[in-house]
Amino acid sequence: MGDDTVKNEAMEIMGMCQLLPRLVVFDLDYTLWPFYCECRSKRDMPRLYPHAKGILYALKDKGVKMAIASRSPTPDIANTFLEKLGIKSMFVAQEIFSSWTHKTDHFQRINRRTNIPYTEMLFFDDEDRNIDAVSNMGVTSILVGNGVNLGALRQGLSKFSQNQSPSERSKRGSRNLSKKSSTSETEEQ
Ligand SMILES: [Mg+2]
Repeated sequence: MGDDTVKNEAMEIMGMCQLLPRLVVFDLDYTLWPFYCECRSKRDMPRLYPHAKGILYALKDKGVKMAIASRSPTPDIANTFLEKLGIKSMFVAQEIFSSWTHKTDHFQRINRRTNIPYTEMLFFDDEDRNIDAVSNMGVTSILVGNGVNLGALRQGLSKFSQNQSPSERSKRGSRNLSKKSSTSETEEQ
């Protein structure tokens, strides 16, 4: 599947959601790309997982902000790769540093930088200890088994909307209520 096909499908998936997260945060190694960047040379030309670029572009088009939370011990290599891939400027926050915490300090920094509450964030990572720690902060967190892809995006968005409290749902959803959803929202209350 080409980047455009993935992007269109991701746009379609998001189009079906009443509520989108305000910020989507990605891990790097084994989430956006299929390797540990500390084991690579800056001279290498990196490649992303096949669906990653299309998903990033769809989020950008939908006005969803994006950030990176990585515990890579080689931020210089990570940054070089983000530049080479032409995606570095897409992220409003890039927290790349090794740490003994399971990314809770990364998320505190992202929260300070963006002012976006944890409950309005969606996070993708391939390590369950990071997922556990960050979801305890209130972030909807999805464990990816084979990098970020359309299936993980679908799962993340649906879990995100389940995690919103009913009052939050009606408050935020009322911005763009269709006739049909307006009926179901009324029924819910
Ligand atoms: Mg990882």
